[in-house]
Amino acid sequence: MIIVLRPNATDEDIQKVIDKLKEFNYGAHISRGETRTVIGAIGEKRMEEKILIMEQIEVFPFVEKVIPILTSYKLTLRDLKPEGTKIYINDIEIGGNTVVIMAGPCAVESKEQLRETAKFVKEKGAKILRGGVFKPRTSPYSFQGLGIDGLKILYEVKEEFQIPVITEIMDPRDLEKALDYIDIVQIGARNMQNFTLLKEVGQIRKPVLLKRGPSATLEEFLFAAEYILLGGNNEVILCERGIRSFSDFSRNTLDLAIVPALKEKTHLPVFVDPSHGTGSYKLVPSMSKAAVACGADGLIIEVHPNPEKALSDGPQSLNFPAFESLMKDLINISKAIGKNI
Ligand code: PEP
Ligand code: MN
Repeated sequence: MIIVLRPNATDEDIQKVIDKLKEFNYGAHISRGETRTVIGAIGEKRMEEKILIMEQIEVFPFVEKVIPILTSYKLTLRDLKPEGTKIYINDIEIGGNTVVIMAGPCAVESKEQLRETAKFVKEKGAKILRGGVFKPRTSPYSFQGLGIDGLKILYEVKEEFQIPVITEIMDPRDLEKALDYIDIVQIGARNMQNFTLLKEVGQIRKPVLLKRGPSATLEEFLFAAEYILLGGNNEVILCERGIRSFSDFSRNTLDLAIVPALKEKTHLPVFVDPSHGTGSYKLVPSMSKAAVACGADGLIIEVHPNPEKALSDGPQSLNFPAFESLMKDLINISKAIGKNI
């Protein structure tokens, strides 16, 4: 780390920093400039200790700023795995040359609704079926999902159509039983910084799709993933799903630039959710295509047999003809960038 002192820092102040560094067994490299002194801390420390010492130095009134040299996240860094993480669910490879499409309703409403959707989306090339059973609704009066009954429906449909399923888990108490029914655990945007939940999914051995929080920076997003990796679960898929901004024409602002930015920084696969990212079925096809074109490893798209009758997120759900037509375009775009679907 580099410690920049304020212009009026005295020799005594410099000594205080040196002493503090010594306390933590760090050496100090002093560089006196025309107007200010910069101190380089020399040594290798565990992350926890590094953060602590940075904080203890930052509180000195004569310190202007403390700059970490290396980012403080480490398990997610691409340098650690330059070839990228590949996650396998049966014969489906995530993070490789195939763009993996997850599709299905926002919420599981009935077995018939899910069967119909599974059959259709699988036929058109989706590899994974989505369906929420524990729904994080803004209003407590909105449909909250079918809970355990929904998990059973997911499992039955998964078996019938031989398609892996993903669902959101909000409460660590539901995690263990849900694992018997599902293939991928989704951590929703609202829970990206639910550290208890992140630690819990760090302990399991099933892939986790981690949504970006509505106001999370790239760094906060990676730290959230770091919690899961630190627990020993290396199968994390990051998912951009739109952030809150001043722009109000869409439900959220889909930050597609984070896709190449994340691909550069981390070895984890990156997905995009154009449904929550826009809130409108009219915008979903264009944003899906743009996401694949800019390097997303896959998409998670809401599809409903009758969006006008959906119990949640109807306005952003594609109907069957719209999904079919989108898949045709996605196949062409994937080909153009040397991938397949
Ligand atoms: C969802 O996928 O149904 C969902 C609630 O997504 P998000 O957490 O991104 O809002
Ligand atoms: Mn939804």
